[in-house]
This record gives sequence, C-alpha cells and structure tokens, in this order.
Amino acid sequence: MPSSLQSITPESLKQQLEAWHVPVYRADQILRWVYRKQANSTEEMSNVPKSLRDRLQEGFACFLPECVQKQGGEASTQKFLWRFHDGAMVESVLIPASPALYGEASDRHTLCVSTQVGCAYGCRFCASGLDGWKRNLEPEEIVGQLLATERYFRLADGDAQARKVNNLVIMGMGEPMANYENLMQALRIINAPWGCGIGARKITISTSGLAPRIEDLAREPFQFRLAISLHGATDAVRTQIMPVNQKYPIQVLMDACQTYIRKKGKMITFEYILIEGVNDGLEQVEPLAEWSRRMHAKVNLIPYNTVAGLPWKRPEEPVQEAFLEQLLAKGVKATLRREKGHDIDAACGQLRLRVEKNLP
Ligand code: SAH
Ligand code: SF4
Repeated sequence: MPSSLQSITPESLKQQLEAWHVPVYRADQILRWVYRKQANSTEEMSNVPKSLRDRLQEGFACFLPECVQKQGGEASTQKFLWRFHDGAMVESVLIPASPALYGEASDRHTLCVSTQVGCAYGCRFCASGLDGWKRNLEPEEIVGQLLATERYFRLADGDAQARKVNNLVIMGMGEPMANYENLMQALRIINAPWGCGIGARKITISTSGLAPRIEDLAREPFQFRLAISLHGATDAVRTQIMPVNQKYPIQVLMDACQTYIRKKGKMITFEYILIEGVNDGLEQVEPLAEWSRRMHAKVNLIPYNTVAGLPWKRPEEPVQEAFLEQLLAKGVKATLRREKGHDIDAACGQLRLRVEKNLP
C-alpha cells in the first residue's frame, strides 16, 4: 500500500476504502482531486465528507513539492526548482513548442522531470553528477513534479480546467534507468486514464545507456519513446566523457537498443551534445552516421551548455553547422538545437547547483 496519495492506484485506494467501510465510489472522487485537480492537501477535497478526509489525512501523506525558485517567462523555457520534505531539491523544466518546428498556434508543452537527487554516473560534462548520488525519488515525487507544475499554472491562470503539460521527457536530474521500479510506477500513474492521462507515445525516457534496463523496458507493455545519450560514436571518445561506457560499451548498448526497436517497432533517438575539442571532430560523423543508419535512429545535436566549475565549452556555430551538414549529407535524420539555452541554466542539474553552491 503506498503511503502517499500522489502514488495511489484505484486498486489500493478501493482496498483501503473497503477496510474503512466507505463506499468505493469515493475512490474516483479522490483520484480526481489528486491527479486532475492537483490537490495539495485533503482539505481541498470539497465533495469528500470531512470524516473521510480526516482518515485520508491520517493514513496518507498528501503534499506536492514546494517551489523554491522559478526562472523564465511564459513564452520561453521555464524552470522550477522543487524542494521535498527532507530538504532535497530537484528541477523540472517546462519547454513550449518551438514555433519553427510546430507553428505559432501550437499548445505543445513539454515537461522535463528528474528521477534522482544527484546522479551516480558521473558523466564528465554534467552538473547533475558533480556531487554524486544522494537518493532515488519515490514514485510520488516523480508524479509530484508534474502535478505541482500543473497546479502552479492552474492557480496562476485561474482556470480550474487548465492542463498545461502534454508531453513528458525524463531528462532531468538523475539516471532514470537506475531508479527503474519507481520510475515505472510513476509512469503507470502518469499514463493511466484515472491518473494524469498522458499517452505513452508522449513520454520519452532518456538514458546514459544502462543496457540491461533497456532490455527490461522493451518487455514493458508501454510504447514509451527512448532517447540514448550517446555523445561519442566510438568507445574511445565516449569512455573519455561517460564512465558508464566502460560497463556497457557501444556495441552492448546498441544490442539492447536493437531489442527495444524490434519489440516496440519504434524509432529511437540519439542525443549528441557537441563539446568543443572533445566530440565535435568530423571523424565522429562517420561512426555516428553508421550507428544511426543501423538503428534507424534520429540524431539530436545539442550545443553544450557551460557548467560553472567545469572546463567544457560548446563549439562555435560554424563547427556545429558543419557537423550537422555532414550527418545530413550521409542520409541521417538529424537536427541541431539552435535556441539559446544558456540564459536560464537550461541543462539538467544546473539550477540546483547554483542555489546549493550560492553561485551568482
Ligand atoms: N541521465 C539521463 C537523463 C538525464 S540527462 C541521461 O544521461 O540521458 C538529460 C540529457 O542532458 C542527457 O542527454 C545529458 O547528456 C544532457 N546534458 C547533461 N549536461 C548537459 C550540458 N551541460 N549541456 C547540454 N546537455 C547536457
Ligand atoms: Fe547522470 Fe545523465 Fe548527467 Fe550522466 S548525463 S551524470 S547519467 S544525469
């Protein structure tokens, strides 16, 4: 039985109601309050009798993370720094659709959520792993980031029906596949019609390449999208910046990707951050193109976001463009992210780093 309302399922809630001799139709009302109206306390559940609210209050935790800081405005990327009950902080980022890709009228809003406090994988370029791993997020803390974001906008817009987030990417702080069970439980709730109702095809999981967990994911009954943080197309380059590559070298990773593609019949994405002098040499283009062709994968090129305390830089724009051009010339489906992410610490882990380390 979950101890929090933000990770409860209809089955477990009904079981509890029966044990309390409360009619089970109350479960639907309670689930609506939790997942559709983003209630932050049982007090808000106005059509639930006071006696039942008191029991829920005693039996379950019911709270969303507290917003410690918010950056960015309506038209741009907005970043939330959340604090959980033990003081741990993580980030979520809300990204509006790029008009160039989706048109001016698009209401596409993608939320990027975190799955761990810190990260154990220590990729050399990443702010999330700088202080190591602190803990896994509970399912309710993963769901809670989505609910708290929806609640923020519902209260700000004064619209009781407003839903903002229609796309979810698991690309915030942490390695999602290293918190597999909690992530799956959270995604079941986020996906369910009685939960947050976001379709599996609108949910992307990004991983640094935990091959056995990719095989596990292939066996799940969900059509989630899969993104692989590749960042190097040869073992020599990738191992230099991603220690996980020693455990799961590129060939092992690609075998797992192959299983995923075969089971799901879906296209996967390779994320490739361009870091000056590290992986932006044109000799990486051919092996990258080769893997992309073999896996029918799309390549997302992302100019590196500088991280305070780390020496890495993004290459000059002509270098980025040349890398893209060469990939396209080899017949690879590739895009280059051109928006300016630097302004609000857009890469994962950077806002927390700034707040915790008191950086300007
Ligand atoms: N741990 C998972 C998901 C979180 S990281 C993973 O590694 O895939 C989400 C993405 O942000 C990854 O592709 C990661 O490599 C990238 N990233 C990390 N630091 C970055 C930075 N400073 N600039 C640009 N992208 C970064
Ligand atoms: Fe962890 Fe992903 Fe950052 Fe690597 S890139 S340290 S796996 S969060």
